[in-house]
Amino acid sequence: MARHIGVIGAGIAGLHLALYLQKHGVAATIITDRTPEDYRTIRLLNTVAHHHVTVAREDHLGVNHWSDPRVHYYYHDHFFNFPEPIHFRGDFSKASRAVDYRIYLPALMQDFLQRGGKIEYRRIEEGDIASLVGRFDLLVVSIGKGPLGQLFTYRPEHSPYSQPQRRLCVGLYTGVRQPDPMNVTLSVSPGHGEMIVIPTISFDGIASALLMENVPGGDMEELATLSYDDNPKHFRQVILDKLEKHHPSTYDRIDTARFDLAQPLDLLQGGVVPTVRNTVVEFDGGKCAIALGDVHSIVDPMMGQGANVASYAAFVLGEEIVNADVLDVRFCEKVDLKRQDRVLAAARWTNLMLQPPSEALGMLIGAMSQNRALADEFTENFNYPDQQWDRVSSPQRIHAWIGRMSAAPEPVRATARG
Ligand SMILES: Cc1cc2nc3c(=O)[nH]c(=O)nc-3n(C[C@H](O)[C@H](O)[C@H](O)COP(=O)(O)OP(=O)(O)OC[C@H]3O[C@@H](n4cnc5c(N)ncnc54)[C@H](O)[C@@H]3O)c2cc1C
Repeated sequence: MARHIGVIGAGIAGLHLALYLQKHGVAATIITDRTPEDYRTIRLLNTVAHHHVTVAREDHLGVNHWSDPRVHYYYHDHFFNFPEPIHFRGDFSKASRAVDYRIYLPALMQDFLQRGGKIEYRRIEEGDIASLVGRFDLLVVSIGKGPLGQLFTYRPEHSPYSQPQRRLCVGLYTGVRQPDPMNVTLSVSPGHGEMIVIPTISFDGIASALLMENVPGGDMEELATLSYDDNPKHFRQVILDKLEKHHPSTYDRIDTARFDLAQPLDLLQGGVVPTVRNTVVEFDGGKCAIALGDVHSIVDPMMGQGANVASYAAFVLGEEIVNADVLDVRFCEKVDLKRQDRVLAAARWTNLMLQPPSEALGMLIGAMSQNRALADEFTENFNYPDQQWDRVSSPQRIHAWIGRMSAAPEPVRATARG
């Protein structure tokens, strides 16, 4: 039976879905407000790291254009800037990597177009939705955090915050030394925030994403509004001073003479209100619009979950569309049930980590610094937030996990790249 799916938005959610449908012989049309050419000159969108489960989905779609192992990273380094500092490392079982989305998204749009896919370029307003629903067998709304998402009602039971929990200052920088093989660093300054350092493929090769997650009222908060354009030299010096005090392990990697934004537009400041929404709206005649990606669940970027979970959910939806006879409200309900454990777990785990650590979580951090297998499993679970949530959702579960891993023998370790 020939079906035609409408996909609004060409972020990772919309593109992974449309490419999946294309590969499996289902017609999909993307409608989005940016052309591939537009991405070259826009401000930094985010600093997304793809875990290996997402890279595997890219392999399935034939869109993994960044397979050189030298641009991948292999482990997390965790630093806690306590009076008695803690450091530990956790390895992934397979490589991860980050590509600037101003390169990634247009590349996948081109893949879709070159394989015969159709993209319409225009901005969709709320009033356009009913006619779009009529035009397609199913309308997928994957427009990110824009106002159109309000079509889907809010789920207060999964949305505990009404304000951003971190004030973000995110940039792509030159002058930050990368280890060989490369890693991601997660650094915590208690009471002031976290910083995640991600080696990122950008326009001039590898740049270092510094994702500063600043606690409101803390010493780093001012970075979320500090202007680069007004005085670049002052901006750089303030950042360096804060890093030296709060994230010294990263400061030690900086060549201060070369330290700068890779390009003037490589800076993003603001905040995210973590929000989960219902995902289905039924229209006259039984046709539906279904939410996908950030429209469904937007999380703070601290644990690197939003895009990875959006890609996962796109594959769940794609697989269900390929196998379904009818694309009605019952179909949407089944999709929702199938994807929700991982999607909700990513939101809950991230929301937990935004709070000061409980006693049990503090104990887990201490245990990971002593037990490499535990640290590896914590790291690997960035791929599987549902499994992470199984382990950290209550003090009892954290204690049981530490107990199990303390009893386990230390694993035989391959090289970091193996
Ligand atoms: C600083 C930062 C760092 C992050 N780091 C990570 C990370 O390490 N790992 C991770 O997994 N996630 C991360 N995220 C989250 C990730 O960026 C998002 O979860 C993901 O990109 C959402 O994808 P999406 O397709 O749902 O939405 P979007 O990427 O927002 O795509 C929306 C699409 O819809 C289009 N559009 C919008 N409005 C309209 C309209 N009205 N009409 C037509 N088209 C429209 C847009 O142009 C775009 O094509 C980070 C986010 C930020 C801000």
